[in-house]
Amino acid sequence: MSAGAEERREKLVELYKEVQRCEKCPLHETRIKAVFGAGNADADLMFVGEAPGAEEDRQGLPFVGRAGQLLNQLLEEIGLSREDVFIANVLKSRPPGNRDPLPPEIQACEPWLWQQVQLIEPRVVCTLGNFSTKLLSGSQTGITKVRGTPQVHELGGRMVYLLPLFHPAAALRTPAVKETLRGDFATIPDLLQRPLPDPVPSAEEIAAAEEEGGTTPPPPSDQLGFFG
Ligand code: URA
Repeated sequence: MSAGAEERREKLVELYKEVQRCEKCPLHETRIKAVFGAGNADADLMFVGEAPGAEEDRQGLPFVGRAGQLLNQLLEEIGLSREDVFIANVLKSRPPGNRDPLPPEIQACEPWLWQQVQLIEPRVVCTLGNFSTKLLSGSQTGITKVRGTPQVHELGGRMVYLLPLFHPAAALRTPAVKETLRGDFATIPDLLQRPLPDPVPSAEEIAAAEEEGGTTPPPPSDQLGFFG
């Protein structure tokens, strides 16, 4: 059941406090501030980046450096601002020297992200770069292959559209990547309007329905190609 806006905000604040105290991986020893994420608790659109960088670590806020400025610009180009969306990361603590997240760090941190998705209940989740795309899609296929094509996944107990995007930091390095990212951003408004598909029945639900002599409707056809 969907939480009311106020209840959702309160629960998110509680989760924020827990994340500030988190010591589930060694990164808590080197971080300045845990970066929970920021934005609208009621957002239909959520972005998930990789991990805080130096500036994010100092301020305790996501995407406040150069990559964040590009993200703001791209949002503006589609008529949105940071106040309309929620921005989080796979890791809540900065890996020293901005190295890649390690598998045990991702494993320790991911429950925070699942809880965020569960509370915010976005319709569309844009993953920024390889790490968040692989984690949220549950597939090892790289970002270059999957970017720009929406997938349907059950996240946080609900169906959402997952839109893999290049990471803004990669776009800052390569103009062609920036143009691709801009083009993919342009598809977000339409995706936000698309009705969400029904949940795919589980094997248990199908078996129970068959036992009762009923039939379980197949998932909508546009869902079939999206599940890996
Ligand atoms: N890059 C990320 O992936 N996340 C941030 O918060 C900042 C830069």
